[in-house]
Amino acid sequence: MGKLIMVSNRLPVSIAADGAARRTTGGLASALEGANTDEDRLWVGWPGGTEEDFNDLEAVTMALAETGLKPVFLSREEVDGFYEGYANSSLWPVLHSMVERARFSREWWDIYQEVNRRYADVVLEAADDGDQVWIHDYHLLLVPTMLREGGKQLRIGFFLHTPFPTSEVFRALPGRSTLLEGLLGADLLGFHTYDYLRHFRSSLLRILGIESETERLWLDGREVRMGVYPIGHNHTGFEKEMHDPGFPAVLAEHRRNLSGKRMILNVERLDYTKGVPEKLAAMKRFLERHPDKRTEVLFVLIAVPSRQGVAEYDSLTEHVQREVGAINGEFGSIGHAPIQFLHRGFPLADLAAFYALSEVCMVTPLRDGMNLVAKEFLDCQRPEFYQRPGVLILSEFAGAAQELSLALHVNPYDIDSVADAINRALDMPDAERLSRIEAMQGRLRKQHSGVWAGRFLSDLEAVPQSEDRVEITEMLPMAQKLAADVAEGKHVALFLDYDGTLRDFVDVPDDAVPDGELPPLLRRLAAFEGLSLGLVSGRPPVFLESHFAGLGVTLVAEHGYRWLDEGKGDWLLFNPHVNTDWKHAIRDHLEQASLLTPGTHVEEKQSALVWHYRKADPEFGQWRARSLLDELTVMAANLPVTVHHGQKIVEVSSLQVSKGLAVDHLIREWGCDVALVAGDDQTDETMIALDPPGVDFTGVKVGKGPTRATRRTDIAGLRKFLVDLARLLDEQRGTQQS
Ligand code: UDP
Repeated sequence: MGKLIMVSNRLPVSIAADGAARRTTGGLASALEGANTDEDRLWVGWPGGTEEDFNDLEAVTMALAETGLKPVFLSREEVDGFYEGYANSSLWPVLHSMVERARFSREWWDIYQEVNRRYADVVLEAADDGDQVWIHDYHLLLVPTMLREGGKQLRIGFFLHTPFPTSEVFRALPGRSTLLEGLLGADLLGFHTYDYLRHFRSSLLRILGIESETERLWLDGREVRMGVYPIGHNHTGFEKEMHDPGFPAVLAEHRRNLSGKRMILNVERLDYTKGVPEKLAAMKRFLERHPDKRTEVLFVLIAVPSRQGVAEYDSLTEHVQREVGAINGEFGSIGHAPIQFLHRGFPLADLAAFYALSEVCMVTPLRDGMNLVAKEFLDCQRPEFYQRPGVLILSEFAGAAQELSLALHVNPYDIDSVADAINRALDMPDAERLSRIEAMQGRLRKQHSGVWAGRFLSDLEAVPQSEDRVEITEMLPMAQKLAADVAEGKHVALFLDYDGTLRDFVDVPDDAVPDGELPPLLRRLAAFEGLSLGLVSGRPPVFLESHFAGLGVTLVAEHGYRWLDEGKGDWLLFNPHVNTDWKHAIRDHLEQASLLTPGTHVEEKQSALVWHYRKADPEFGQWRARSLLDELTVMAANLPVTVHHGQKIVEVSSLQVSKGLAVDHLIREWGCDVALVAGDDQTDETMIALDPPGVDFTGVKVGKGPTRATRRTDIAGLRKFLVDLARLLDEQRGTQQS
């Protein structure tokens, strides 16, 4: 196994004035410790400061190398444009759905791209074929593709520690397409929640027109996996602190300081995403409404300074200080100020003691990727330390809300409901507090940050690499095998799609008539004893009959809705009880899209509705198709239908009808021993994905794109296969007769 290269904006290190480097244990570093993987590691990132701060870059590089770190030095201009600028003033607010706070500058964007390139170059310099590279967070969104373009055989993982906003919000970013393309260089993309993953997929579809399955997509012949990996907290670190012989003294001191007050704890970086002003308003509302509790409770507000010197953050700090003063002025009494504002960071031991001693913990961000404070609080709540179990108040806009269902969930913008939640938490009986905490604790302690890192890295290792992917295969051996099967008396069936498989697409579908050689070839094949032929198409019966009736080929029309046995007699339904009640809702939606998009129309089929946009303005048509696809996917979530984006169409069709169901029916009806299916698009995948018991089954993908088939060819290759098969069967018959 190769080595693991971690890539993050900051290196886990602090460098003293004399150049001495000391490793720090940030969240990521301890996650990696807990992952218990044994490969060699290297960490690439910014050591902090600016290039201009270091006298001897070479010496710092050497010192860092000793602890497995490789620096990316940034100049003052780069720190401004890349870190303060594009990453923190453009991306951070947009990713947190706060577009109105975002500022954009062409210069920042250029520097962001240059610095991402620098990170990629430093990684490439150190990487060898077979290494795993794990890139972290919004600072480095372009690095995955830059690394892939480096040409080395790397497994590239990317994890986003922030939320991913809806596509409506993400679209606001001037660099949106480049950012998405940058991410798609990864083999595995990780998010904290399904919502973020869903938003990302929706952005891919709307912005780049790239369709994906829930957890994967195919791009340039390779698979990109996407997954949900909610990060855990540093359980081991807190465990260690709480078992330290010095801990009881720390705890006792904080308990003494509380002098019997009921602590309502708040711990956060002072960032506008954390909703501190809204939280203060809720505290004020609570104090107004509950005069009896004013002297009982103590709101402890630990606000770790963040991005000091940046005007927006400085004014937030001033606002908070002013507001705390005003509330204390209004509701305090001699010897008691209801809010204690601590504008600094605390060591882990103090934090653990605060968590353990608090009766309520308020985690109320306006938006937060995960929020570890919520998890740390729950973990530190232990009967040996507290007098009463505590209650977690948790914003529904924190990623952690998806996991911590037994917290008191609040909408942080709704000041009254947060004030009510504070009161409810304080009045909650101990038994209820305990049962809520215990139900959440068990899972949390098992899903700690080490488990998170381990899971991500093992999934990264499992992403199929290009050699596992289906390459173009020579089809002659397949023709020889099938001819031999027929000779042995086996019943062999071929199921072939038409458009894109037996003939190329053309602009006007009605012009896509079969070439002169196709019908005789099909007739010849269908005439062999022991070989059955099915033409399985999305076309209506009238088209298939006009070109293929009377050839001895079974025709399957409208994606498996009806069939004509050997091209003779009456058309039959595969399933006479197909439910099409969903049509009216979907029809209205498609007709609305037609009205808004000149040159498009809705086609109604028995079991499907199709929106055609071939004649629309190409760009506008495609833009509308992507939005439509996204909307229909949501609308159809509870309907028995599937939504498909085909060649200039968006199709909604019944799940009770598919080419796969039709072919499965025919394989059984005919008692086939051997079956081969060939098709080019997503509707054909339903037959390619079949695995009929007791049947020797082969799926063939015609053309490019994702597939579950085990073989791939193109239209010419498939035609040659059919010609070869007919020739071999002819030769066989000749030998048998002579
Ligand atoms: N934290 C800390 N010292 C403090 C206050 C907080 O080390 O004085 C840590 C806290 O333990 C938590 C992290 O800061 O692990 C905050 O993480 P969170 O996910 O809640 O928010 P972020 O700041 O990453 O947006």
